[in-house]
Amino acid sequence: MHTTRYIFVTGGVTSSLGKGIVSASLAKLLQARGFKVTIQKLDPYINVDPGTLNPYEHGECYVTEDGAETDLDLGHYERFSNEHTSQANNVTTGRIYQSVIEKERRGDYLGSTVQVIPHITDEIKYRIKLLSKYKDYDFIITEIGGTVGDIESLPYIETVRQMRWEMGNLCVVIHLTLVPYLAAAGELKTKPTQHSVKILQEQGVQPDIIVCRTEKPLNDNLRNKIALFCNVSPTAVIESIDMDSIYEVPLKLRDEGLDREVLKKCGLTYEGRPDLSSWEEFLYKMKNPRYTVEIGLVGKYVELKDSYKSIMESFVHAGTVHQVKVKLRMVHSEMLNDENAPELLKDLHGILVAPGFGSRGIEGKIAAIKYARMQGIPFLGICLGMQCAVIEFARNVLGMRNANSTEFDPRTPHPVIDIMEQQKKISGMGGTMRLGAYPCQLSDNSIARSIYQAPVILERHRHRYEFNNKYLDDFQEAGMIATGINPKENLVEIMEIPSHPWFVGVQFHPEYKSTVANPHPLFIGFVEAACQHMNG
Ligand code: GLN
Repeated sequence: MHTTRYIFVTGGVTSSLGKGIVSASLAKLLQARGFKVTIQKLDPYINVDPGTLNPYEHGECYVTEDGAETDLDLGHYERFSNEHTSQANNVTTGRIYQSVIEKERRGDYLGSTVQVIPHITDEIKYRIKLLSKYKDYDFIITEIGGTVGDIESLPYIETVRQMRWEMGNLCVVIHLTLVPYLAAAGELKTKPTQHSVKILQEQGVQPDIIVCRTEKPLNDNLRNKIALFCNVSPTAVIESIDMDSIYEVPLKLRDEGLDREVLKKCGLTYEGRPDLSSWEEFLYKMKNPRYTVEIGLVGKYVELKDSYKSIMESFVHAGTVHQVKVKLRMVHSEMLNDENAPELLKDLHGILVAPGFGSRGIEGKIAAIKYARMQGIPFLGICLGMQCAVIEFARNVLGMRNANSTEFDPRTPHPVIDIMEQQKKISGMGGTMRLGAYPCQLSDNSIARSIYQAPVILERHRHRYEFNNKYLDDFQEAGMIATGINPKENLVEIMEIPSHPWFVGVQFHPEYKSTVANPHPLFIGFVEAACQHMNG
């Protein structure tokens, strides 16, 4: 039987230290050494999945190929490792309890008292090990959300303790902490790290490796001190200093020997260094752009960077392909209207209208699209962005004055975007949209066909509404053409305006599929169009 090793990544002191990036970087390093790796996130909240969470609460909801609505860290995992994740890669406390309670109701526990230990911890263990049923992974990296000491993460840490006890050196625990710099003292401080390791130890878990997030380099003195107080060897104290870009972290952690330390703990050989030459090439191009293009990102969550994480990263990937820097101008859709659009969107080389739910900011999105369409500025509309492009075209080109989506105006005389037939009978909110990858057939002579270089593509969806085919002939006659169709359901997936230099609206989310190794063709094409617009 194949031996799978389990690496747990816990966090201490504060949240937002970058456990996801450390986990993704470690996956990259082990992958570069030839190992098969996957990453999983365990989230301590009670929501069954993050699909029902407001982006203000938890950033973007990331959608996998199999249609799971997941934590945005899974996006980092895919972007770094270039491997698909699935529902099994993201588990929340809500989901764990849901299955335990379902089993209890079915009578599976044969009358015993159902408790956190062993029933909840067994379910967590089952979910961790489940991934090895899909593939012969050499390593499963499990990131535990939250911070040690939180009441909510106790069952997860307890599960780590049990797995450690049961599996010995097939398990490695990495603890990520903060080593703050106190300007007044002019020093880095190790006490918070000591305390957070102590909490882990009180819960029965001794970390093997301590990754220290820091603004300034750690000297030997400090490393030795952390090693001594926390029961680890000095080589297992790994510095994770702030970097300009998340994509530099794997190289930095390679220099620090994180992968070597992990292999050592597992009793595996660890000669040489992982080969990251294509990653280095990517970084070189990213850090040495030939020039900058500016693209407007129009959405209602623009104050919060995490809300459009995958879109932003897709621009980093696509910009690097052309060796240009894509500067994003965040434009709040609620502030925009026809009068101020020329001012707020001035000098942009491209305009992207973002996905979203609900009516807030819709009219601003429509104003941005009208401006992009009339001024010949390259335009990419994603999901709601595509739907708004359809509404704009209906109102301003087809003369359907009150055209709308029934999401915003159920009584509109021109429901050009309407709820999908399958969605009409659905009442629950979580996991009930059109989700995950669906095929899309591209028309010849379209922008889509030329950038994808393939007749059929697979893209990920997350929506309830769609283009209303009743209006298709009107649109096509007036110059907005459906260039991508779902072959089975006949749903419109892509709209283009061939008389415009570059106007593409897509019902799916290309941003979920862009990775460092495979930047997304739509973003590559869009950035190229923006460069052409700029260089006129
Ligand atoms: N609110 C729209 C729908 O449900 C668009 C969703 C999205 O942009 N992801 O169809």
